[in-house]
Amino acid sequence: MTFSELGLIPALLRAVEAQGYETPSPIQQQAIPAILQGDDIMAAAQTGTGKTAGFTLPLLQRLADKGQRPAPKHVRALVLTPTRELAAQVADNVKRYGTHLPLKSAVIFGGVGAQPQIDKLKKGVDILVATPGRLLDLYQQGAVTFKQLEYLVLDEADRMLDMGFIHDIRRILKLLPDNRQNLLFSATFSDSIKSLAKGWMKSPKEISV
Ligand code: AMP
Repeated sequence: MTFSELGLIPALLRAVEAQGYETPSPIQQQAIPAILQGDDIMAAAQTGTGKTAGFTLPLLQRLADKGQRPAPKHVRALVLTPTRELAAQVADNVKRYGTHLPLKSAVIFGGVGAQPQIDKLKKGVDILVATPGRLLDLYQQGAVTFKQLEYLVLDEADRMLDMGFIHDIRRILKLLPDNRQNLLFSATFSDSIKSLAKGWMKSPKEISV
């Protein structure tokens, strides 16, 4: 199995090659075609499995395919993470894999000044990686809108629940357009994760590695 057999476009294959990846990992083999096809997915995958490339690569491809641009303050894809470290790491992956694509990304998290983040959002972004609290804060300040949102990723959803983000997540879900593709990644599928996913994911394809 190769990355090109998964249906990735040349701009992404070049980026993957530059990383030195030879074969897609099991989560990537399952997640990439499903996401490219437009399915909602619920994936059980630990850190270290290559899950970040598993959602970042197909997300970049779908965003690039449509050839649309985000309007000022608009976001096309939102990736929620539990911590600023993970947010920074995912944002770094987005930049690396998206290096040959004309897409804009941004990362926002708490504990640092908000103004540079507000300035970045002002121009509109294709992929926003964010922690829930700072995202809601900036939304309330009118710095960002979700009217153009097409993709939502919850990364490390189990950690988000452990850290008490359930109310923030539910508040964010209410702000998003209904017609979107949803991707949920979690180390485990506990009952609380299943109940979190209920009601907004559209017959998700379940993947576990
Ligand atoms: P993650 O599980 O997303 O945190 O990724 C774990 C590590 O695996 C990261 O350092 C990636 O750069 C690396 N990685 C991701 N996909 C592959 C692949 N197909 N082959 C080799 N390394 C990979």
